[in-house]
Amino acid sequence: MGKVQSFKTEVSQLLNLMINSLYSNKDIFLRELVANAADAIDKARFESLSKPELARDWKIRLAIDKDKKTISISDNGIGMNEKEVIENIGTIARSGTKIFMEQLAAKKEAGTDAPELIGQFGVGFYSAFMVAGEVTLVTKKSGTDDPAVRWFSKGEGSFETDTDPRTEPGTEITLKLRPGMEIYLEEWKLGDIVRRYSDFIAYPIILPHIKVNEDKTETIEDRVLNSQKAIWLRKFDEITEEEHKSFFSHLSNWGGSEYLQAIPISAEGMQEFKALIYIPAQAPFNFLMPDIQKKGLQLYVRRVFITDECKELIPDYLRFLRGVVDSSDLPLNVSREILQENPQMLRIQKAVTGKILGELQKMLDNDPEKYKKFFREFGKVLKEGIHTDRINEEKIKKLAMYETMNGKPGELLPLADYVKAMPESQKEIYYITGENRAAVENSPALEYYRSKGFDVLFMTDPVDEWIMQSMIQFDKKNFKSVIRGEFEADDAEKKILEDAAGKFAKLVEFLKKTLAGDISEVRFSGRLTDSPCCLVIEGNALTPQMERLFKAMNQAIPQTKRILELNPKHPLVAALNDRCTKGDKDLEKFARVLLDQAFLTEGSPIPDPAAFAKNVTELLLGSLK
Ligand code: ADP
Repeated sequence: MGKVQSFKTEVSQLLNLMINSLYSNKDIFLRELVANAADAIDKARFESLSKPELARDWKIRLAIDKDKKTISISDNGIGMNEKEVIENIGTIARSGTKIFMEQLAAKKEAGTDAPELIGQFGVGFYSAFMVAGEVTLVTKKSGTDDPAVRWFSKGEGSFETDTDPRTEPGTEITLKLRPGMEIYLEEWKLGDIVRRYSDFIAYPIILPHIKVNEDKTETIEDRVLNSQKAIWLRKFDEITEEEHKSFFSHLSNWGGSEYLQAIPISAEGMQEFKALIYIPAQAPFNFLMPDIQKKGLQLYVRRVFITDECKELIPDYLRFLRGVVDSSDLPLNVSREILQENPQMLRIQKAVTGKILGELQKMLDNDPEKYKKFFREFGKVLKEGIHTDRINEEKIKKLAMYETMNGKPGELLPLADYVKAMPESQKEIYYITGENRAAVENSPALEYYRSKGFDVLFMTDPVDEWIMQSMIQFDKKNFKSVIRGEFEADDAEKKILEDAAGKFAKLVEFLKKTLAGDISEVRFSGRLTDSPCCLVIEGNALTPQMERLFKAMNQAIPQTKRILELNPKHPLVAALNDRCTKGDKDLEKFARVLLDQAFLTEGSPIPDPAAFAKNVTELLLGSLK
């Protein structure tokens, strides 16, 4: 009798889900188990590159037992010892599973359906329980003396482990099918599924075929179900949509099979390699969580799998790509450490990056709607390259798109189009950073630009602030933040500002004194047309958006005081100045409310909301009396 253990709660919940089969397409259980088998062989094969005695005739075998109503999937791959079985299969702490369950619960609460959510997850091993009421796994770790392990579960909250006499390295999984799942006992059905989802798997997937001879005797012959054609080595024109989809879903670890574009690369000369790379149609739910998300492409050397998640093949800002690079020149026994500083890898990376950026530019030129779809999903990540890739930054700038003040919400404009539309009198590229469109749209700092008919880029991704530190120019035009630095007035406007400074000196002096704790200066500016005042930043000081980001990351930052700019043409300014001259008991309240509403209009929280409410109430009362 073996040990009985409970599944971790998340696993139990996931199993429940599987059994109650929210997945309508149960066929995929086989794809998942075959993929696991192929991964296990990949690992063993990699190991055998340095330990040739571990090499064997790699294969995956399927078997059907119609009497017992079981099917089995076995591989001669890396296998697992007891500890690994428990970690990987039993008590899994994979963060993906947990997040999946949480999202599912949230959706349920909201009363919405979950299937599209499930589509985003590779659910792997547990998908066996969609079709099976009992699952047995027997596995022996390759290259070790660890005894083989038997794992058994009915998917009902617990599992059992025991040692097993098996001596061959590898893993066999046996599924006792649930009533109604007999279709999976049919040879043709398994053949169908394998060809549909796993044709490109580089190892033979074998199913014994029972042949009835002329003399009525039976012979059993092995049949290989998959073609094993490395899809990336085939002629691109001859690969069907269906084949791309199944290969892409094999590569992407979020289950979906939708890709936006497939890009083949065939490089000759200095560095010979072939690659097949996909731009996914959708970002996975956990895309911005760096530790969960798989990064990089798969690396093969002359059709031999070396590693997945090969970060050296693409720069970080292209981490949304999925695909395979197959090199003809790298040595087969290349280790993961060597990859890191290999000049050949750098050359491959350069070629891949150039090709991808070129394809994206083509997409933007020829099919802007498709490109916008791409950019909405991955633009945030791609833009990082402007800051990190000195060689390609100009190319990436051309690929960047923004919402703008004059555009509709959700409408994206490429930088080049913004520049093309600039009126003659506009010399710089105007932009504003902030949390979202609603927050920046109402900023008083936009009033002048609106009145002049200029457009302003809305930079509302958190990375934009960071990127703008290195985005100095585009198309020889400087970038200018509308909330940073002095407003450049023409001569006529300068005269108005100077006059105002003289005429309203009392008010300026009073505001400076009263608000000294919050602002560094008070001055007049031509930036405003409708609002009485706004806040701006000087020099290299952090924007309010940056300050909030740093605070959210628990980083101590120096509190920067900003500048209060007043609109000399606003009647409130004249009226307040008047009160300053004559004296008024409410003057201080007026000053505070003025500042607080400047915070509000730019989307910042006001420092003391309770005091604000009190001040407004008292001023309202005063004016109503
Ligand atoms: P995933 O494959 O997405 O990691 P699974 O639930 O399919 O998730 O598998 C969990 C883990 O169990 C795998 O990562 C692997 O370590 C191990 N595993 C599953 N099947 C096999 C197998 N046939 N041989 C060796 N290890 C396996």
